[in-house]
Amino acid sequence: MPKLYLLLGGNLGNRTLYLQQARESIAAQVGPIKQSSQLYQTAAWGKTDQPAFLNQVLEVDTALTPEQVLQSINRIEHELGRERQEHWGARVIDIDILFYDELVLQTQRLTIPHPQLHLRRFTLLPLAEIAPELVHPVLGKSIRSLLEACPDQLEVQVYAE
Ligand code: ATP
Ligand code: CA
Ligand code: CA
Repeated sequence: MPKLYLLLGGNLGNRTLYLQQARESIAAQVGPIKQSSQLYQTAAWGKTDQPAFLNQVLEVDTALTPEQVLQSINRIEHELGRERQEHWGARVIDIDILFYDELVLQTQRLTIPHPQLHLRRFTLLPLAEIAPELVHPVLGKSIRSLLEACPDQLEVQVYAE
């Protein structure tokens, strides 16, 4: 089965509860969760005048195609009450596809690997926790080396509940 890496994030309401509900929906609708990182807290990135985010990376086995995964995660975001669709704005839950096996895909709706993942410490750190040796199919570098080279200075901390 294809191996999928997802990034979960949220910065509104009961963040840990939204992440938990997202994991449950993902396990039910996308496929079994094989690994999950700890939760990490990061000050908002890009659009900085908003609450801090909690992020988590999951490894999921899926029988769905990438387009079907996108539909599922959009549905789960909607079910959990994500309302504002403002790009980089505050939200209760955001689910991004980081990798789908070694697939490289660029369509109007979907870019895989996620085009920003190597620029974001809040993505690389949890990803390095569960998949340090994973090689980025476009950049040809491991997650560990991408993290070492990452210029992002935003502090990312393990979040103890
Ligand atoms: P960013 O993608 O920079 O983290 P964002 O998550 O805030 O920003 P959204 O508003 O959640 O952006 O998503 C906008 C659109 O991005 C989605 O509707 C989806 O079609 C598209 N998209 C493209 N590539 C991906 C991907 N790898 N994972 C999830 N969505 C993607
Ligand atoms: Ca995102
Ligand atoms: Ca998104």
